[in-house]
Amino acid sequence: MASDRGPSAGDATSRRRIEPWEFEVSFDPRELCKETRLLYEIKWGKSQHVWRHSDKNTTKHVECKFIEKITSERRFHRSVNCCIIWFLSWSPCWECSKAIREFLNQHPRVTLFIYVARLFQHMDPQNRQGLRDLIHSGVTIQIMRPTEYDYCWRNFVNYPPGKEAHWPRYPPMLMKLYALELHCIILGLPPCLNISRYQNQLTLFRLIPQNCHYRMIPPHILLHTGLIQLPLTWR
Ligand SMILES: [Zn+2]
Repeated sequence: MASDRGPSAGDATSRRRIEPWEFEVSFDPRELCKETRLLYEIKWGKSQHVWRHSDKNTTKHVECKFIEKITSERRFHRSVNCCIIWFLSWSPCWECSKAIREFLNQHPRVTLFIYVARLFQHMDPQNRQGLRDLIHSGVTIQIMRPTEYDYCWRNFVNYPPGKEAHWPRYPPMLMKLYALELHCIILGLPPCLNISRYQNQLTLFRLIPQNCHYRMIPPHILLHTGLIQLPLTWR
């Protein structure tokens, strides 16, 4: 049975997959690890073939590394349609957002979708503006949901045999909190999600909505979090 095998059985991408622990640490919405991990897939022109790979920050941010790499590809040409999907553990900083916009301006046939596990330094006005600018320039940005964790696990992770469906079940509540905050960013509202770290062990997620949030955010989105007044802690 296929489910009794790991992805290495007959899968040409197995060498490019990351290990389960790397995925679990990098994409956990409760963790505030320093490194940014990128899982990406590219489709060229009308080809149905999906090209998958991964990368992480070094001295350069991973988004800029990606742009340098793809623009040096021989088959990468302005006249070829190219659909790129990123799964990023942290959303792009404002400098990377700027670099991405420049890249897209120069390559109008590229479509970029970005899923992020966490919002990077989301209180910083420059980072917020960077994400807004990206969205205005046509990039789709969404917070990763269980569906995307499942997808990444199956397609980018070297999961053990028989563990195809064992993607990490992170608390969906945190995904909703990040989604709400992304909504605030898009609407140009001040932050309503406060994240603090205590003694390197405890991460506290608190919602601090102001009147403008209640006025501007559609009620069903606020209610969806179910957390308007309760502070949440995770060990
Ligand atoms: Zn960056």
